[in-house]
Amino acid sequence: MNEERKKHDAFEAHLDNELIRLIADAARDMRRPAYLIGGWVRDVLLNRNSKDLDVVVVGNGIELASRVAEKTGKKGSVRVFKNFGTAMLRYRSWEVEFVGARKESYRADSRKPLVEDGTLEDDMRRRDFTINAMAISLNKKDFGTLLDPFNGIQDLQDKVIRTPLDPGITYSDDPLRMMRAVRFATQLNFEIDPASFDAIIRNAERLRIVSAERVMEEFNKIMLSDVPGRGIKMLRAANLLKQFFPELDDLHGVEIVNGKAHKDNFYHTVQVLDNLAQNTGNLWLRWAALLHDIAKPATKRYDKEAGWTFHGHEYLGKKMVPGIFRRLKLPMNEKMRYVQKLVHLHLRPIALTETVVTDSAVRRLLFEAGDDIDDLMLLCEADITSGNRDKVRKYLDNFRLVRKKLVEIEEKDRLRNWQPPVSGEDIMEAFKIPPGKEVGIIKTAIREAILDGKIPNEREAALELMEKEGEKLGLKTDHSAY
Ligand code: ATP
Repeated sequence: MNEERKKHDAFEAHLDNELIRLIADAARDMRRPAYLIGGWVRDVLLNRNSKDLDVVVVGNGIELASRVAEKTGKKGSVRVFKNFGTAMLRYRSWEVEFVGARKESYRADSRKPLVEDGTLEDDMRRRDFTINAMAISLNKKDFGTLLDPFNGIQDLQDKVIRTPLDPGITYSDDPLRMMRAVRFATQLNFEIDPASFDAIIRNAERLRIVSAERVMEEFNKIMLSDVPGRGIKMLRAANLLKQFFPELDDLHGVEIVNGKAHKDNFYHTVQVLDNLAQNTGNLWLRWAALLHDIAKPATKRYDKEAGWTFHGHEYLGKKMVPGIFRRLKLPMNEKMRYVQKLVHLHLRPIALTETVVTDSAVRRLLFEAGDDIDDLMLLCEADITSGNRDKVRKYLDNFRLVRKKLVEIEEKDRLRNWQPPVSGEDIMEAFKIPPGKEVGIIKTAIREAILDGKIPNEREAALELMEKEGEKLGLKTDHSAY
């Protein structure tokens, strides 16, 4: 190991810190060398402020954690992970992971290593990337010195993701590192070293031994980056995407019939995602962008007159969302339903701009989108990826009209999260009927009449219509009821 040791100015201010002094003192009490390592060291050099510390001690990590906790007078805040030989301490806003220096070896069928005690050098070798394998000494003789055996500093300057050891072995040992490589490259706007990239392509298939939860943890960090599309394109180019997300990979490609081509829906989708990412940090709205056209391959048809069509892709897309979320171990709760709703409605505002914008169409959209209307509009604006600037301007102008109309109608009719002025109970009470088909028919007729603007959104008018609709079904109201 070509050991590089130097003092580095960037750390001086950061090391003048009560918690770090306590850790150094506790390690000296144990007479064990200890180091800050990994993400925090990298982030200081990148001028990013991190409150997550990783401490490696050539000795027992759990013991060091309890000694530090004692010194902070906060014994209770240590969590020990005996199986992993690690401990976590929370102190003020800091989160500190303690681990004993270790050497790892791997078996083919698992990303969980066999672990034995090791030296600092062993511990640095087991790290995923050179930029994550730098350490700062907490020892008396060289406190604050940067240890950088794999020249991570240079890679930070060159903006390169590189593994400390042979990339083929590094990725094959723990295939999650392939996802991490793309994640760091995306978050930091770095390139993956070509030798590393080739090794990822060769090992991509080994991602199957990694749990969906861990893959998604990295994928969602990519999704939350400034330019997530760059990471998603990298995942595809590295053969990783199809391992866990074949539906997204399938969007790629262009078919030509009679000289007519459709657009490549993969590049369109990542462009929509990147457009949207400029306007929102909402992870689930970004997911809606990722999935808005997911059913295009399954609904694609070529029609002699109309050319390429994708009829119903918004409905099928909505149906596909739960299966994708389940397999990827994403939440099956209101977040999933929110993504479904946006996928389902994503064509509606566009349809509104193509015809005269009627009040009733806007009312319907408000009713169906509810509080998610603003998010839907953001998605739709991001969905405009035409290269033709005049077209883009025209669409955006139309959307401005739709937005104006939305505000006007909302002010007038208050249809967001609206409940019709006559309820199912009202109907049962008025006609003295039990729950059943008739109640539904009458309710729907009232709702539709209000949404279509045929009657005002008021109780009196709704009751009147209720009577008429009841009559059609042979029902009579009991006037004493209301
Ligand atoms: P972030 O906080 O952005 O996730 P980080 O580098 O702190 O970045 P962690 O996942 O907390 O990420 O990992 C801490 C350190 O542990 C890393 O910097 C790296 O040295 C090491 N590490 C984490 N995961 C792996 C892995 N799968 N293989 C090898 N080393 C790893």
